[in-house]
Amino acid sequence: MAKSLQSIRGMHDVLPEDSPRWQAFEETVRRLMISYAYSEIRTPIVESTDLFCRSIGEVTDIVEKEMYTFDDRNGDRLTLRPEGTASCVRAGIQHGILHNQIRRLWYMGPMFRHERPQKGRYRQFHQLGVEAFGIADADIDAELIIMTARLWRELGLKDLRLELNTLGSAESRAKYRDVLIEYLEKHRDQLDEDSLRRVYKNPLRVLDSKNPEMATLISNAPDLHDYLDTESVEHFDNLKLYLDAAGIEYTVNPRLVRGLDYYCKTVFEWITESLGAQGTICAGGRYDGLVEQLGGKASPAAGFAIGMERMLALMEESAVAFQEKPIDVYLVPVTMTDVTRALQLAEVLRDTLPDLKIQLHCGGGSLKSQMKKADKSEAEIALIVNMDEQEHITVKYLREQKEQQLIKQDSVINFLQNRT
Ligand code: ATP
Ligand code: MG
Repeated sequence: MAKSLQSIRGMHDVLPEDSPRWQAFEETVRRLMISYAYSEIRTPIVESTDLFCRSIGEVTDIVEKEMYTFDDRNGDRLTLRPEGTASCVRAGIQHGILHNQIRRLWYMGPMFRHERPQKGRYRQFHQLGVEAFGIADADIDAELIIMTARLWRELGLKDLRLELNTLGSAESRAKYRDVLIEYLEKHRDQLDEDSLRRVYKNPLRVLDSKNPEMATLISNAPDLHDYLDTESVEHFDNLKLYLDAAGIEYTVNPRLVRGLDYYCKTVFEWITESLGAQGTICAGGRYDGLVEQLGGKASPAAGFAIGMERMLALMEESAVAFQEKPIDVYLVPVTMTDVTRALQLAEVLRDTLPDLKIQLHCGGGSLKSQMKKADKSEAEIALIVNMDEQEHITVKYLREQKEQQLIKQDSVINFLQNRT
């Protein structure tokens, strides 16, 4: 027998029994976005490699070693998107929808990173991304965080804490950079290979290292907060004020820097302890320089991304139950001659009672075998269409001890509407 084909390592199918959870999450998100007046944007999954190199930064995990990059048949260098912000900004500039205006956008879809697959870390994973363009004040940072807090509430998740930091303006980061390089140079012998490469190219990223052997070095590093400019401090103070007023708890973590190059001022992460090592569910911040960096007219911006697989795992962990809506009606055509009438009846029911879930038995079989399938479908009732009873339908209760009834076909809708 030929060897059966498998999905790519780190890329997973979502099977029918898992879909209700995904759908519940997606529906909650859609409702939430409408209530905050954010609009959906959909961009291609493949982009020019250059886009990610120029936005995420050459010296980052993503660009250095995680991108799925290939030459297409024209010899163009393309990449499966590893995140959504770059595409969103690219599309915004290309279509002139960021120019001198405020835009609140969101997107949801698959992202690709060639990482070592493990629990909560996959090669194809999904993100919900939310981005707000054109607002420089901390009120929008607060709105984004308040929105995430509402999402956790609506999904019934409690086990999440918020970590907050400010990276300051580009200028204050430059000042801090020099001090940090000096510190790292002094402790060269304690740096791992990745960090050694980053000392001069992107020293702040050294603070983002997940290597436990570097934890002490990182915790003794000079504090970015000592180098902040007054505007960034004020921005951060305002954000904290808004969050306090909204009753959102947080801890300020001065070591929190984000993996991507383009962040400034606010950065934040929502973290859970319930999922082991991959505990960051949501990460975001401000990226005022990115639009200009990618060729647009300068526009302040802030946003976040939620890792959907981690989010769904947390929903499961928190025992938030999602089940597929059960079938309401199972339609049974007794003979081949009854199929036409059953097909028609099913359509009439779907026209008039669109909320009902109706399954029509297809593929024939004896009444007995059809009724077995009806029972297995977990439908509430079966409607039996039988040519011997023209104009009538037999109602059989599948879950309750009730006598079956014969009702006129033109009263079926009425019957279904009024059933208890
Ligand atoms: P990490 O530090 O876990 O690698 P990151 O900083 O690379 O995360 P971001 O680029 O900020 O992550 O992406 C935002 C969110 O997307 C993460 O907080 C996480 O929930 C999710 N995410 C990132 N990479 C993966 C992955 N490989 N598999 C599943 N989810 C992921
Ligand atoms: Mg990563």
